[in-house]
Amino acid sequence: MAQSKKLSAGITRNNREMADGRTIRYYDTAGQTRTAPDLRPVETQPEIGELRLDPLVNEWVAMAAHRQGRIFLPPKELCPLCPTTGQLLTEVPESDFEVVVFDNRSPSLRPPTGDWALPDQVGPDTDLGTAAGKCEVICFTADHGKSFKDLTASRVRVLLEAWIDRTEELSLSPYIEHIAPFENRGEEIGVTLSHPHGQIYAYSYLPPRVEKMLAAAKKYKESNGKVLFDEVLAREIRDNERIISRNDRWIAFVPYASRYPFEIHVAPLHPVADLTGLTDADREAFPEIALDVMKRLDGVFGIEMAYIAAWHQAPVRTGRDLLRLHWQITSVRRAPGKLKYLAGSESAMGAFIMDMRPEQSAAQLREVTV
Ligand SMILES: [Zn+2]
Repeated sequence: MAQSKKLSAGITRNNREMADGRTIRYYDTAGQTRTAPDLRPVETQPEIGELRLDPLVNEWVAMAAHRQGRIFLPPKELCPLCPTTGQLLTEVPESDFEVVVFDNRSPSLRPPTGDWALPDQVGPDTDLGTAAGKCEVICFTADHGKSFKDLTASRVRVLLEAWIDRTEELSLSPYIEHIAPFENRGEEIGVTLSHPHGQIYAYSYLPPRVEKMLAAAKKYKESNGKVLFDEVLAREIRDNERIISRNDRWIAFVPYASRYPFEIHVAPLHPVADLTGLTDADREAFPEIALDVMKRLDGVFGIEMAYIAAWHQAPVRTGRDLLRLHWQITSVRRAPGKLKYLAGSESAMGAFIMDMRPEQSAAQLREVTV
C-alpha cells in the first residue's frame, strides 16, 4: 500500500506504522510530513472474535469479549485521541493533526488470516464463523473540546476525503462486503470518548438493515423498473414540507416515516452508489449542508444533541445499481431532559412507534437560525 498519496482538492495522505503494527493515516491540507514515531510499548493484538448466526432471523452477531476492558470516558488529560504532547503518549504520535484514521485498538471485526469464508446459513447447524472485517477510528480534529458542527468547511472537506479514501481502499479487501462510516455523539447513547471522532466499520457480511433495504429495492425495481431511493427522494422533493436544507448538489430532509424524534437524511441530488462516486462538485458542496444540518440539530433545543450520524452506502459487491448513498442522522432526544427509549415495541418487536409527526420535527429544524 502506498505510504503517501495525493487525493483530490490538494489533500494528502501519509501512512505511518504504530508501535503494535497498526496503521495511522494522516490527512492533511498543506502537504505536511508526518514522521513522529509511536514510542509506546508494543502491545499484543487481541484475537479475532466469533461470528455466530442467530438462526431465528438469519442475522450475524459478532462476539468480541475482549472489548470489555475499554477505557471509559477518560478526563481530557488522559484522552487517547488527543495529539501526543509531553508525557502522555496517545494514539496519535504527532503533536498536532488535521484528520487522522487509525486501526481500532479493540476492534469488533479484524482482518482474517488465510482463506476466509462466511459459513453457509443452515439454521442451528450453521458453523461458528470468525468476525472478519475491519474497524477504524477517525478523529475530526486535534481540538478535544470541539464538535462536528464547530469544524470549518475546509475541515469537513478533509473529513469527506478521508471517508472516500477509506471506502475506496477497504473495498479492495476480498473479505469486505459493506463499509459504514459513522459517528456516535453523546453519553446518552454510550459514547466512551468525548473527543470528536467517528468510526468506520467494514463488515464481511451485509448488516441486517442493508439486507432489508436491498430486498426492498430489488422488489421495487422488478415491479416498477425504477430505483427505490430515487423515487423516495422525488417524493420528498414533491412534498417539500419535510425538507430542512438544500444547496445545488445536496438535500436534507426528515423522512416521511422517520423512526426517531429527530431523523435527518442528507443525500446528493445526483444519486451515487457510495462515497467514491461523488463528483468534485458534490464534494465541494457537502461541507455547507453538513454544517448547516448539524447546527440546526443542536439549535432545536439549544443543547448538544446526542445523535448517530451514519453513511449508508451500496454494498461493495452487490446491489450497486439498487442502493444509493445517503447520510442518516438520528437522535433519540425528544425534548430537553427527555429521551426516546427503544423499549418493548421497538426493542423486542422491531416495531417503531413515534409520538411526534416528522413534519413537526422538520418545521422545528427549519426554524432554527443557523
Ligand atoms: Zn481528546
